[in-house]
Amino acid sequence: MSFAKHPKLELHLHLEGAAPPAFIKGLAAEKKLDISGIFDADGNYTYRDFDHFLKTYEAACTTLQSPEDFRRLTLAVLEECAKHGVIYVESFISPDFCGGGDLTAWREYLAAIKDASDEAEQTLGVTHKGIVTCIRHFGAEQAKTAALCAAETAGDFIVGFGMGGAEQMNRPVDYKYSFDMAREAGLHLTCHAGEWGGPDMVRDTIRDLGAVRIGHGINAIHDAALLDEIIAKDVVLEVCPGSNVFLQAVKTWDDHPIEKLRQRGVKVTVSTDDPPFFLTDMTQEYENLHRVFGWDDDTFAQVQQTALAAAFCDDATRATLAKRLEPAT
Ligand SMILES: [Zn+2]
Repeated sequence: MSFAKHPKLELHLHLEGAAPPAFIKGLAAEKKLDISGIFDADGNYTYRDFDHFLKTYEAACTTLQSPEDFRRLTLAVLEECAKHGVIYVESFISPDFCGGGDLTAWREYLAAIKDASDEAEQTLGVTHKGIVTCIRHFGAEQAKTAALCAAETAGDFIVGFGMGGAEQMNRPVDYKYSFDMAREAGLHLTCHAGEWGGPDMVRDTIRDLGAVRIGHGINAIHDAALLDEIIAKDVVLEVCPGSNVFLQAVKTWDDHPIEKLRQRGVKVTVSTDDPPFFLTDMTQEYENLHRVFGWDDDTFAQVQQTALAAAFCDDATRATLAKRLEPAT
């Protein structure tokens, strides 16, 4: 059974992390950069563990040096999204990788990304919105720079602010200043937590940063009181099962808590995170959820409605997407 044509919303995708390896390889060749060590014999990204994954990711990002590179990257990524029936995607975009946090440079990168997104909406039917993301292991001071870039460019395209990176670095409260700045600029908030960290990390992220969505959040399953709090506060989890299994945050698909969370009443959505790094895509995620947990069209429809309600876009966009999610009659 192929789910490629099911219309899908994806809320958790890192723009650079979605770069097809062949695209990054091509850019490296154009710029005469030697990053051959990050690819295996089949041309896929290769790395040993999560820390090495972050280093490989950053090495791939060294090929992305200009707004034009990001314009091409955005088109390449949205083409992949369209192949898997994605009609709406929110991607994480880091000022750290787009001009090093310089506001003027950031605006130029953003204009190029937005230009590519407008083109993809016309030609591919994929609507793309951006979530500015600070990198946790770059530290709290650097995060403020990302938050400033986010606040200055909040609007129709930049709709949210978030944080990714190594979860064991610092506590959520260390980034409160940045999240407060983004909230005051009208941005919606999400944050990675509970992928590697325990329930306390998820609880602190919700309480200290005011995140309304949590990236991953899977370790909340170990704390009944936290699950009650997540449900009461209507927090939505951006779950990326293939990523969790590939990086061994969860041992196997059968062990993945997404179905238990859903059954418990937690709002879950499905995303790919950094798909080529984890040898996955939205079609495969759907196929695995169908195979392992018996998710059917009704379950997928329910999860898409959760994603639609949790999307950070404006209501006009949401209404358009709602129409596209309606089954053909
Ligand atoms: Zn992520």
